[in-house]
Amino acid sequence: MRRDDNWGCPADYIPELARIDPAQFAIAVVTADGKLHTAGDADTPFSVQSVTKVFTLAIALGRSGDQLWQRVGREPSGLAFNSIVQLEREAGRPRNPFINAGAIVTTDEVLAGRAPRDALAEIVQFVRTAAGSDDIHINDAVAASENAHGHRNYALAHFLASFDNLRNPPEMTLGTYFHHCALEMSVRQLAQAGRFLMGVPGMPRLVSMARVRRLNALMLTCGHYDGSGDFAYRVGIPGKSGVGGGILAIVPGKAAIAVWSPGLNRYGNSRKGTEALAVLARKMNWSIF
Ligand code: GLN
Repeated sequence: MRRDDNWGCPADYIPELARIDPAQFAIAVVTADGKLHTAGDADTPFSVQSVTKVFTLAIALGRSGDQLWQRVGREPSGLAFNSIVQLEREAGRPRNPFINAGAIVTTDEVLAGRAPRDALAEIVQFVRTAAGSDDIHINDAVAASENAHGHRNYALAHFLASFDNLRNPPEMTLGTYFHHCALEMSVRQLAQAGRFLMGVPGMPRLVSMARVRRLNALMLTCGHYDGSGDFAYRVGIPGKSGVGGGILAIVPGKAAIAVWSPGLNRYGNSRKGTEALAVLARKMNWSIF
């Protein structure tokens, strides 16, 4: 891995992320006994982007339960994270909560009946509680940068609204979505924030065990978009990626792992991050299969 000098390219459609040096790497692993192991730039905060979709889904399910599934599906999409074609064919019900259209719906659900500020406060608080750290913040410049260039996401949100699958004005839901995507965490914080997904005693208990399993199932089948099958094949555990180059991966009952390397592969998932997880999973014999 170290010998391969192809780091991939950082996300270029969010100007604030495009200028980040791709040649950075960090990893943190929390094991079931609570021990934390880190390597690389483990305290450098990065933009977690779509990794927050796991947390917003957990909150949306907590608020609405299974009713959420009337608005969004649970199937892999086989298409890019920001694709719009399926949404038209499937009458405005996104395939799953981890592609952008689906996460805009879960954000809309978390927002329903209150101000964006209050919804964001709940999301940030959830993540801080999960991570056991109050030093986790939203980077407003990244949110503004994405908002200024977010034509795709605006198109998706208006499309959802045209099918009556948005409860709030598109700008309001998207403002909330861009802000939670712009949360920044280090791999140390992100691995800690993933502890509740390990499903072992002694870890923060933020959702029921049944829900932990379901979140993991969705991460495995949908967490890497049209690269989900490849990730399952190469790594073999549930994971959720973000275009900031972060991945949160869970070894049920055993570990929560966060990796970060901002260069992306063709699916928009961290290139070195995926490779590192593949090596680690193989060496540790970590697989759900
Ligand atoms: N905020 C990003 C977007 O909407 C998140 C996408 C991602 O991380 N894959 O495009």
